[in-house]
Amino acid sequence: MKRRNFLNRVGAFGLGYWASACGSSGLRTGTVSNPKRVIVVGAGLAGLAAAQELQRLGHEVVVVEARDRIGGRVWTSHQWPDAPLDLGATWIHGTEGNPITELADAIQARRWVTDYDQAITYNTDGSPFSGEDEEDLDQLREALFEAIAIAQDGEVDTSIFQATESVRQTLDPSSQARQWINFVLNSELEQEYAGSVAQLSAHWYDSDEGFDGDDALFEQGFGVITESLAEGLSIELGQVVREIRWNQSPLRVITQQTEFLADHVVVTLPLGVLQSQRVRFTPALPSDKQQAIARLGMGVLNKCYLRFEAAFWPTDVDWLEYISANHGEWAEWVSFQRVANQPILLGFNAADQGRQIEAWSDQAIVASAMETLKTIFGVDIPDPMDAQMTRWASDPFALGSYSYNALGSTPQDREILAAPLGNQLFFAGEATEPDYFGTTHGAYLSGLRAAEEILSA
Ligand SMILES: Cc1cc2nc3c(=O)[nH]c(=O)nc-3n(C[C@H](O)[C@H](O)[C@H](O)COP(=O)(O)OP(=O)(O)OC[C@H]3O[C@@H](n4cnc5c(N)ncnc54)[C@H](O)[C@@H]3O)c2cc1C
Repeated sequence: MKRRNFLNRVGAFGLGYWASACGSSGLRTGTVSNPKRVIVVGAGLAGLAAAQELQRLGHEVVVVEARDRIGGRVWTSHQWPDAPLDLGATWIHGTEGNPITELADAIQARRWVTDYDQAITYNTDGSPFSGEDEEDLDQLREALFEAIAIAQDGEVDTSIFQATESVRQTLDPSSQARQWINFVLNSELEQEYAGSVAQLSAHWYDSDEGFDGDDALFEQGFGVITESLAEGLSIELGQVVREIRWNQSPLRVITQQTEFLADHVVVTLPLGVLQSQRVRFTPALPSDKQQAIARLGMGVLNKCYLRFEAAFWPTDVDWLEYISANHGEWAEWVSFQRVANQPILLGFNAADQGRQIEAWSDQAIVASAMETLKTIFGVDIPDPMDAQMTRWASDPFALGSYSYNALGSTPQDREILAAPLGNQLFFAGEATEPDYFGTTHGAYLSGLRAAEEILSA
């Protein structure tokens, strides 16, 4: 049986569930006759979605957030006032039927579309790809995905790295094709799923679903969505939750400063935070939930924006790709020149490379990025005027960028993670979404699902 089909059979709450449970608009109407006190832990997309829906239906809702801002992994920087930039999520991936598109339309948020086909690939020595290079890379890509497809049909799961070992073995060890293999695996899997190919499950890494349509980003940043979702909500910022006491009435959410009482608690803590056990559950979470949390992977994708006086790179493309000598080093760049008319480049580092650079100083990160750009565009290119960069794995309230299906996990782990405990604790957040994990729409839909569970309870 194809893994995807199996998933469809066992999968729980996708968009279909959301729409059918709540009517065609996806939202319930009316108000509840028996309002409850609900504490939502976390003011990211999942928490804001759950809180809005529950409050709209008449519950008394307070959102408790550790940071001094809302949005969580949606975080628009206004450090450069004429160029709001997203340090977390950037794109609505697949605009058609995507609930984030609906939210964006409702507030008439202006968007730009970037296009993966508007891309140039550069070799390790900085020379642009020839037609022949393109063909060779396509062949290699085909061989790699064929090897992965074979592994997907295997009885025993392996990592993507193991699954593609057969392709590696056919190559001369000194050949540049090894760098090409790393490039394909990094740019197509690690940059998307944020897990290392040594950790990504060959059986399940792509068990997610997607929407059709463009990849759109917000002129004013993704923060316009979280700001609009937060309107009218009671949000307590700067409240770091230390402990959640459940299996008692009322429930207690204990922060560094105070404690909140509730009939229901919606937990939207990122997977990384749950894995760290920095928030204590009393009594402890059941062992199946603890094991699911441990099995799933929390990946890393880091960004580095470089702002220049003027563009020195091709301005008719959105993506610049580089076949780095070291696996995953500055392999993907987005240019903001074509869509935003800004001479800004965004370089990505994902998975192991993304984790590694977090230990470097800002200057060292910029120097490393510039080394790559100089290899491609020559040593005379100007230094950036300024830079902004992220360190999501070190961020204490994220401890990673988004979740992936690690070797040893299955999509059912996300259902176990999502399952409510009694009529008390409800779980949302991108990691609880079997079909749309690792995305903003997944986080949003999980919040609506948790709200629906409370309403049905
Ligand atoms: C670099 C990067 C790029 C991305 N790009 C995209 C993209 O282009 N498109 C896309 O669709 N998705 C993208 N994503 C994924 C997307 O951002 C996330 O899936 C989504 O925002 C997660 O929302 P959430 O509500 O589940 O979690 P979060 O937004 O993390 O919300 C959880 C909240 O809990 C809070 N919290 C944590 N610990 C505590 C505590 N102890 N007490 C109280 N509060 C606490 C956090 O501060 C946070 O606000 C990207 C993510 C990153 C990091």
